[in-house]
Amino acid sequence: MLKVEKKRCPQNHRCPAIKVCPAGAITQKGFDLPRVDEEKCIGCLKCTAFCPMGAISEGK
Ligand code: SF4
Repeated sequence: MLKVEKKRCPQNHRCPAIKVCPAGAITQKGFDLPRVDEEKCIGCLKCTAFCPMGAISEGK
């Protein structure tokens, strides 16, 4: 399960990781904290490597 870290994400832009996700699992309302749909996510971890703020990580 992936976690989007509120403290790392500035929430002032369209999340660029949305375009990187091959499964269309990342959604965002306006500039809100993006959400990862667990049902759609295939666990490729492209978003975790891509986010320049390191805001998306494997939740532990
Ligand atoms: S791990 Fe891959 S499939 Fe899951 S949200 Fe990130 S980019 Fe999309």
